[in-house]
Amino acid sequence: MFEKLVPAVRLGSIFEITPELLHRRNIKLLMLDLDNTLAPYRDSKPSGRLMEWKDGLVSSGVSLIIVSNTKSDRAKNFSADMGIPYVDRAGKPMTKKVLEVMRKMGSKPEESALAGDQIFTDVLCANRAGALSIVVRPLELTNVFFLLRYWAEYVFRRLAPGHDKEGKR
Ligand SMILES: [Mg+2]
Repeated sequence: MFEKLVPAVRLGSIFEITPELLHRRNIKLLMLDLDNTLAPYRDSKPSGRLMEWKDGLVSSGVSLIIVSNTKSDRAKNFSADMGIPYVDRAGKPMTKKVLEVMRKMGSKPEESALAGDQIFTDVLCANRAGALSIVVRPLELTNVFFLLRYWAEYVFRRLAPGHDKEGKR
């Protein structure tokens, strides 16, 4: 159980996910958490930097999809602005929706990655589903609840192999 909480890759932000990093690991599908991973909760539009990053990955041949637990229209609207597909109400860390996404997009678990900011939802879900788990630092820790959760996750973040203090590769 505990090993399922350890990310395979730990990064400072989503922007450190490069085509090279994914190609080296033979990843063809990158599933993306939305809140606090691609944008802070309060931002309803993708930033210019995020769009550039997305274009770089897409033109390198990686498929992208937002996989969010949100029950609102946020994932729908955000993904439309980004120009990539989405799944909401994903129920992470349950794997049902993520397994469905991989099957529909024709990507085996070992060719798929799931990147997110939370250990107990994103990382656990990715590891259970057999996909590469990538944890990024949350964009904002704006309230006490987020901060407490971050510290509860801290030991698992640090267990990710092969990274320095800044989480760089
Ligand atoms: Mg999140």
